[in-house]
Amino acid sequence: MTNHAANVGTALAMFFQLYGGSAFAQNTPDPIDAHLIAARIAAGFDFTGTLARLCVAPVAVPSTLQDLAPGPAPARDTWFIEPAKVFDNLYFVGSKIHSSWALTTSGGIILIDTLFTYNSEEEIIGGLKKLGLDPATVKYVIISHAHSDHVGGAKMMQDRFGSRLVMGGPDWDSIEKSVNGYPQGKPKRDIVADDGHKITLGDTAVTIVTTPGHTPGTLSMLFTVKDNGKPLNVAYSGGTAFNFPSTVPNFDTYIKSQGKMAAAAAAANATILMSNHTEFDNAVPKIRMMASRKLGEPHPFEVGKEAVARYFTVAAECAQAARLKLLQPPK
Ligand SMILES: [Zn+2]
Repeated sequence: MTNHAANVGTALAMFFQLYGGSAFAQNTPDPIDAHLIAARIAAGFDFTGTLARLCVAPVAVPSTLQDLAPGPAPARDTWFIEPAKVFDNLYFVGSKIHSSWALTTSGGIILIDTLFTYNSEEEIIGGLKKLGLDPATVKYVIISHAHSDHVGGAKMMQDRFGSRLVMGGPDWDSIEKSVNGYPQGKPKRDIVADDGHKITLGDTAVTIVTTPGHTPGTLSMLFTVKDNGKPLNVAYSGGTAFNFPSTVPNFDTYIKSQGKMAAAAAAANATILMSNHTEFDNAVPKIRMMASRKLGEPHPFEVGKEAVARYFTVAAECAQAARLKLLQPPK
């Protein structure tokens, strides 16, 4: 376990001591505590990583974000993980920390998110090849938002394979405005996704749900995968952490988007929750569990409609607590 993981574990244990008791929940008059308790209850055992990041250790961010150059690539063993087939038509080509998913269709591949610049070639192009898929058949790349851990391989896919890039308008703007963020070149503005936009390829469509908050142009998605032929609906949450400027209007936007995506996921009958960070959807242990899955057992990613709804409650309740903290008079 890394130091960071150990610290998060300790912080989470303390959090459970403080907000774990239902008696405490009934007696507390503090509205911030009430939101933290609601988040803890919604997280259950399914979303402790999300709870840890958003409720236990949220960050305070200054009002103007810095346009930083990417740091040096970390050691390969901190991020490298083998690719995996996860559904009949969905393949994981991500890292230990971040997700990249290849959705195969009758007309080629839709790739969702592209990791960092330093690891996208090995994990995505290398991963697709290891899985017997041809990276040249990636027709669309949907980027959930323009942060370096998701947009890093976009330019590579555009330049090398002519893949069409799909992103939210405000995030295309942020790429164009950035001075320091893209020392190896920027992806060129391509498709601007609006709410309800369907990216259709062959027999498959991905429906875009705009969920501003994490960034102004964050895209979440709905699509269908098949598990041994059985169709299952996925809600893909495109932005989670509170690393946007800590203001009440920004939290209001974020909270509204959580409700919007929860409603869209429910309407689509989504029973699978996916995120672009493995700490939020436990993708890595779930992929590992697939090796020992027996015939007839549920798919590790199929958490059910009720759990999908709880995920968005965790995000919204932690955001409510962080928003109220901003309104508290300084001590
Ligand atoms: Zn981000």
